[in-house]
Amino acid sequence: RTSIGGIDRDRIADLREIEAAAFRKARPKSQAKVGNGLPGFFGGVPMHWMNDWPTPFPILVESARGAILTDIDGIRLDDFCLGDTGSMFGHSPPPVARAIRRQAGRGLTYMLPSEDALAIGPLLQQHFGLPFWQIATTATDANRFALRVARALTGREKILVFNGCYHGSVDETMVRLVDGVPVNRPGLAGEFRDLTRTAKVIEFNDVAALEAALRDKDVACVIAEPVLTNSCMVLADPGFHDALRRLTRESGTLLLIDETHTISTGLGGYTRKYGLDPDFFVLGKPIAGGVPASVWGMSDGVASRYAAYNREKEPGYSGMGTTLSANPLQFAAMRATLEEVMTEENYARMDHLARRLDAGLTGVIDRYRLPWHVARVGARVEFICAPGPLRNGAEAEMAHAPELEAAIHIALVNRGVLIAPFHNMMLISPATSGAQVNRLIAAFGAVAAKLAA
Ligand code: PMP
Repeated sequence: RTSIGGIDRDRIADLREIEAAAFRKARPKSQAKVGNGLPGFFGGVPMHWMNDWPTPFPILVESARGAILTDIDGIRLDDFCLGDTGSMFGHSPPPVARAIRRQAGRGLTYMLPSEDALAIGPLLQQHFGLPFWQIATTATDANRFALRVARALTGREKILVFNGCYHGSVDETMVRLVDGVPVNRPGLAGEFRDLTRTAKVIEFNDVAALEAALRDKDVACVIAEPVLTNSCMVLADPGFHDALRRLTRESGTLLLIDETHTISTGLGGYTRKYGLDPDFFVLGKPIAGGVPASVWGMSDGVASRYAAYNREKEPGYSGMGTTLSANPLQFAAMRATLEEVMTEENYARMDHLARRLDAGLTGVIDRYRLPWHVARVGARVEFICAPGPLRNGAEAEMAHAPELEAAIHIALVNRGVLIAPFHNMMLISPATSGAQVNRLIAAFGAVAAKLAA
């Protein structure tokens, strides 16, 4: 292809080179410290994803507050990445920072509850509607634990996922459709199993495929994001979630809704706004304002079956849990988040600015007649360098334009704006200002002008 996303390939490469040089030039201190990687770390980074940013070296952060991140060269960035959702409610939200300070001198982990935990159970019920909850430390773990229970209760081995999904490093979900054929997701280091033996994979929004896949009554659980947010952004067709709930019920399959990203929708997530009625509800990332924590909720039906299962099986080892989960620091931060940060008022602000961002980016795309589009779920906005809307993972895969996106990302950083790596995700937090949104729209316009020129 000589063009990507309607933009000439050479022009993309030129932009990337110019912007990479400008990035380096602006950061002499950072270049000296991390230009050749961080000492002592494999690959020069403490976590391998940090090498996946399109910048020549990772931004070395001095501090982050609200929706502003400052690097050690003193450069301030309007942060729309927000830790890829972990800080969706802003960096160090004041109520969370206060709660952490309060807990800091009272012990950080005991394998016992604190009084904050007494408040959290009812808060989770009020926010998300499900009656019984467990706490874990990452969304990955919450998904794994819930899937384990689903298999235990149904006695079925298989799960079903949607093509293009991501639910964390839950190995068994790492399957894809390639030309309609299920395969292990490419690039899985060390995966010796054929994951397609236990995971069915179909396209999102494909009710006929869903019906066919559930017909044999051999699927323990469907695990789904309400909107695919890890493959560009694919919204659910009207009626898709109704069909998903009906068909899972009819086949005795449990339904896990992973709200880790779609919690951007509004208070209580997509589930509450659209009246979904899942058997399991998973939320990680921002649930404790940036302190590592996740929650997984069970319906009444699942909880009573699980209690019966536990009575019958050998007592003792449940095979799930991580030692630091449900610690008092998590309780303190989660309580503050649920009581004071995840509020109707904050969500209204976020939604308002996200609409403005959506309209502003769409305006730029129209002005330069780019074959691109914008998708949004509440406070989460994504621009996609292909026409839309996208209907499934296969279309999303085709729409993904890594070289073009990398050039845009680094050009945005040089114009003071940080968005999430790997794709084009932008989050609005309660701390994000209208001026920041305007700066992002202007920066996007400036980059589009360069590309379209
Ligand atoms: N679920 C979804 C929908 C996600 O997007 C992610 C991470 N991007 C996860 C689960 C896993 O979260 P974590 O890496 O914090 O375990």
